[in-house]
Amino acid sequence: MQALSMDYQLIIPAILRRTRLLHGDKPVSSRRPDGAVHRTTYAELLRRADRLGAALRGLGVEPGDAVATLCWNHDRHLEAYYAVPCIGAVLHTLNLRLHPDELGFIASDAGDRVLIVDADLLPVLLQFRAKAPFQQIIVIGDGVTPLPPGMIDYDTLIDSTEGAELHGEEIAESSAAAMCYTSGTTGKPKGVVYSHRALTLHSLVLGMTDGFGLRESDVVLPVVPMFHANAWGIPYGAALVGAGLVLPGKQLDPRSLCQLFETERVTFTAGVPTIWIGLLQLLDAAPEKFDLSSIRQMLIGGAAVPESLLRGFAERHGIEVLQAWGMTELAPVGTVARLPARLAGLPPDERYRARARQGTPAPLIEIRAQGDAELIAWDDQAVGELQVRGPWVASGYHGAGAGGSSFTADGWFRTGDVVSIEPHGSIQIRDRAKDLVKSGGEWISSVALENGLMGHPAVLEAAVIAVPHPRWQERPLAAVVLRAGQQATCADLTAHLATQFTKWWLPDAIVFLDVLPKTGTGKFLKTALRDQFRGYYTSA
Ligand code: AMP
Repeated sequence: MQALSMDYQLIIPAILRRTRLLHGDKPVSSRRPDGAVHRTTYAELLRRADRLGAALRGLGVEPGDAVATLCWNHDRHLEAYYAVPCIGAVLHTLNLRLHPDELGFIASDAGDRVLIVDADLLPVLLQFRAKAPFQQIIVIGDGVTPLPPGMIDYDTLIDSTEGAELHGEEIAESSAAAMCYTSGTTGKPKGVVYSHRALTLHSLVLGMTDGFGLRESDVVLPVVPMFHANAWGIPYGAALVGAGLVLPGKQLDPRSLCQLFETERVTFTAGVPTIWIGLLQLLDAAPEKFDLSSIRQMLIGGAAVPESLLRGFAERHGIEVLQAWGMTELAPVGTVARLPARLAGLPPDERYRARARQGTPAPLIEIRAQGDAELIAWDDQAVGELQVRGPWVASGYHGAGAGGSSFTADGWFRTGDVVSIEPHGSIQIRDRAKDLVKSGGEWISSVALENGLMGHPAVLEAAVIAVPHPRWQERPLAAVVLRAGQQATCADLTAHLATQFTKWWLPDAIVFLDVLPKTGTGKFLKTALRDQFRGYYTSA
């Protein structure tokens, strides 16, 4: 029998048709470079997106062409998020914190035809412009500063173009809508290309109660950059459910964020742990200063979330933190750590422990983990490399990243994360495969030690790395940043860890630093630490 359901295409324009019709009056606020908050609505923003789409077509952009952005989180970046996929082109968000050589490589690997860039990032652009294939460069500026010759002013372009509503009826759901490069911590960055279908289904999961739980009444502030895995899908997910958006621009310090949370009455926010570690410190220092009572959910992902962070926000400030695990290759959501009903009655300590895990797979995401010889049992003891499959998981890499060993023969994506899985399917990330400490053939979890250290009241941040050792091949070394005004010695921290870990797991050395090196997306940059401390145990 032939199925008789409509062959309705799951495409970004379908999301935006709904936003226009039902949620046009919902607010989109952005922090501009001068600090002022610019306020608009989805209706107005989408009208400008229609004009941007028409203007890009006028510049010769064809379906399938890559249009790059080099921008902070703000309303004009959002216009590109909506316009580019709606003309069948591919939105390619460049990570403005990468090295110019890397940006040049990425732009040419993607074949970016047009670039939309923030005026204050022109100095970054000029460092890789010669290596990039951009035919046109559109600058988002203040309209006053003279542009370099040949570049186009964004607002002038929009104002001078008539735009009809972009319905995207001709777009197939399997076609490319957006692309993003991995952070390239293990070699060259690799291009991930998302289909319209992938991003649309991913948006639905953001709106599921046990997914991100985004809803119409939310006002969502993504601290996560729009160049980090599409700001975790929030620009499309919020538009789908009709939630308001607040985009923080380039001012990402805890104080500026708190001000926006307060004035815009933000209900939902998302970012990597390092952002929230800084924010918690500010709130602890002056809890009465900010009114964050509107926040109902703070989503943390992108790196392991120390239990102390969950406790700190909940117990001292009444803010519920939700952890999610994901990857650029997953658009990015893979698992979400909601507390299941069967654990609701447990004592608080056990509930925190459950929520500090990375959680269970989102609907339509399947998981398994490969041990040394076979797939591991879901007993939370065995560890193996996490593999995933699902409708928004990459099936391969673009350009120079194609090939390689990231996919199994039977079509699963190898994440490179080492996990254990408990019987109900909640994963615990034990490490990145490359970050594991292999001491005398036994493995030690750097993530567990970091979380233990960050549970000490004097510790602000901690990163643990494997350092070559003459006797044990590798031993852990901890790099620690103390909180301002706090003191702790190596012996204090080791004694603290010794209450939670067996003796041979304890770091042989704890070094105190002023800051930890971070990646372009705000994670601890362990490669830099490894380079710095490579000879620590061998040359001692
Ligand atoms: P990216 O593609 O840059 O977002 O990096 C993905 C990697 O970040 C994953 O493979 C994990 O190693 C790490 N990651 C993301 N979320 C979490 C989390 N909640 N806990 C631990 N590691 C995470």
